[in-house]
Amino acid sequence: MRATELIAKKRNGASLTAAEIQWLLEEYTTGTIPDYQMSAFLMAIFFQGMDASELSHWTHCMLHSGHVMDLSHLNTIKVDKHSTGGVGDKISLPLAPLVASCGLTVPMISGRGLGHTGGTLDKLESIPGFRTNLSVALFQAQLDKLGVALIGQTAEICPTDKKLYALRDVTSTVESIPLIASSIMSKKLAEGIDGLVLDVKVGNGAFMKTHERAQQLARTMVDIGEKMGTDVIAILTRMDAPLGRMVGNALEVMESIDVLRGVGPEDVRSLTLTLAESMLTLGGLDPSLAKKNLDNGQALDRFRAIVAAQGGDVRAIDDPSRLPKAASRSPVIAEKSGYIDEVNGVAVGLAAMHLGAGRAQKTDLIDPGVGVEMAMTVGDPVKEGEPLAWLHHNGRGVAEASDKMSRAIHIGAAPPPVGPLVLEMIKTPHNVGNPA
Ligand code: URA
Repeated sequence: MRATELIAKKRNGASLTAAEIQWLLEEYTTGTIPDYQMSAFLMAIFFQGMDASELSHWTHCMLHSGHVMDLSHLNTIKVDKHSTGGVGDKISLPLAPLVASCGLTVPMISGRGLGHTGGTLDKLESIPGFRTNLSVALFQAQLDKLGVALIGQTAEICPTDKKLYALRDVTSTVESIPLIASSIMSKKLAEGIDGLVLDVKVGNGAFMKTHERAQQLARTMVDIGEKMGTDVIAILTRMDAPLGRMVGNALEVMESIDVLRGVGPEDVRSLTLTLAESMLTLGGLDPSLAKKNLDNGQALDRFRAIVAAQGGDVRAIDDPSRLPKAASRSPVIAEKSGYIDEVNGVAVGLAAMHLGAGRAQKTDLIDPGVGVEMAMTVGDPVKEGEPLAWLHHNGRGVAEASDKMSRAIHIGAAPPPVGPLVLEMIKTPHNVGNPA
């Protein structure tokens, strides 16, 4: 086989065979096919797409390019959640311990933040001492003991995706539905899970700006799950304004602890419960257990146990003043009275990034204590001169963050209609709680 022939075949809209896909991905991963030929191939996929059979072979090859965990020795059902990413999305922090406290195993492999979105690993690492770089052996030992562990992607998992994702990042080929779907699903299926809940974000703070694109991505991932024998529930949720009030690493940990104590913002609590209920449904358990264990403190206890097991300072959970804190707090002031009718999530995420809460480049260092605290959100009445938000900062990027924030929040004459957070669910046909 020759790479040039396969590039031309895809460019002309023909379908590749399983053998051709396997050859291309293997030769690329070992370095025989250079980046410039794979770039051309990815751009051909970007414009021509992939049919269902190509996508299934492509995902299969990515999944088996590395270690696929075998958790079959655990006699519980293994479920996980993946979010396509949004501003202030800290749901994994309360969700993983909550679902584990109900009796399912949650082997959660998460990512870091880049650009306007944060990452679960950066948030957890703001807890002093917390380690996310556990080996596969330690990860499995913690799953045996606690039913839950949260780590970063190891070099052994989906090496083809790691290489391809870095190439897509610099060749403008990230925003392709088959490439996103295969990238996410291969990494999640490598966890050895029985069921997966996908939180597919829609709106101006998300990758997918329209309901139709989000639906297409959700359907594509659900179809991959079905072909691979894993039950999937995809939930389309609105992501315009940030989720909750806090955007920034330690700030989001504090808000997550509030949710585990039953006092956090309503949107974070309600999305945590919705996703937990779907995970319990996939695991064949009573979904009402989610609310029960959030309210009776069992989820918080399990979070403490995770922090202790992964080397973190458990005292910071009961005394958040032990978490990293910015030296200063500056307000973003309302320039007129009215109602907040729009908060642009991307702009808020970029403001937090300028303060040091996120990375512009993969190699940038994070400042764990900084970020944005929204004093108000969509629908709130506001008077001229009142603080709309607070910048928690250490002197870095304040002018840029203030500029982003002043454009992020729009004040109108009347409160806007506020739609539901959950827009739609798309499922594989045979999941345990939802017989076909
Ligand atoms: N997240 C991933 O893991 N892969 C993509 O392609 C896009 C988002």
